[in-house]
Amino acid sequence: MTIIIAHRGASGYLPEHTLSAVAFAYALGADFIEQDVVLSKDSHPIVLHDIHLDQVTNVKDKFPHRSRADGRWYARDFDLLELKLLTVNERAHLDGSGAVFSKRFPYGQGNFQIPTLQEEIDLIKGLNQSTGRNVGIYPEIKKPAWHMQEGVDISKLVLEVLSKNDYRSPTDSIFLQCFDSKELKRIKNTLNSSLRLIQLIGNNTWNESDDDYNLMLTRQGVKNISSYAVGVGPYLQLLYQASVANNNIQPTIFNQFVRENNLLMHPYTFRADTVPLAFEDFSEMVIWFSDTLKVDGMFTDFVDKTVNLLK
Ligand code: CA
Repeated sequence: MTIIIAHRGASGYLPEHTLSAVAFAYALGADFIEQDVVLSKDSHPIVLHDIHLDQVTNVKDKFPHRSRADGRWYARDFDLLELKLLTVNERAHLDGSGAVFSKRFPYGQGNFQIPTLQEEIDLIKGLNQSTGRNVGIYPEIKKPAWHMQEGVDISKLVLEVLSKNDYRSPTDSIFLQCFDSKELKRIKNTLNSSLRLIQLIGNNTWNESDDDYNLMLTRQGVKNISSYAVGVGPYLQLLYQASVANNNIQPTIFNQFVRENNLLMHPYTFRADTVPLAFEDFSEMVIWFSDTLKVDGMFTDFVDKTVNLLK
């Protein structure tokens, strides 16, 4: 069975990480809903993809003089009450050239706010009670080393919220993800969490952590991951090689290493409006990953389309 993880909520249809996007993802049939988590100035875990506010909110208009020397506005510089004054919009390019996905929810329309992690948990657990379903959460600890430089232990604070909400054991409906391998080991061995951990795998050029992701793709690298995590979350291009000449798509050897170590495979991101060239269309892509690769989960911006294809 392949679980469907709503990537930043139903982000294909509504501004990412808003409570509206969470409720919609729930209604469209997600098995898990993702929360990216960063900290406010008063150390509340909030649900936001970036440590910056400027690509997804109207912070520049609301607080024009609160950027740092690098010209960016940081969530960490605002108390929760101030963050609640911001309106969330469709993700926009930094250079002011408009929405990243121009066909999605109209840029700048609607009245959406940044939720706290607690508010999202309340919404999902509330819906679990009223519908009788058991939809899980899938939080990501964002930039733990950067938060530590700022003087705050984000993992500790997030684990406190999770524990308070009865997310404590490997049988609870939660996966906890991070790009930083040192932090995942610390969560397991120092903070003594028994939650199921997922090692995210990015590209070294993204500067997500000081990990070398090329090493993680090797047989020894995958074996190392299996000492602290139950699965991996690689970007989907790491999982196939496409030969344009004979229109052939083959799995990479990394898939075999993941299977050898009995790790779960939860690749990201399946987007109906951005399909890699190797695949004819969204349908071919989803079916290849489910039937040929037999992935255990998919992070998708389009929950309904993915669910329908997997039926
Ligand atoms: Ca994420």
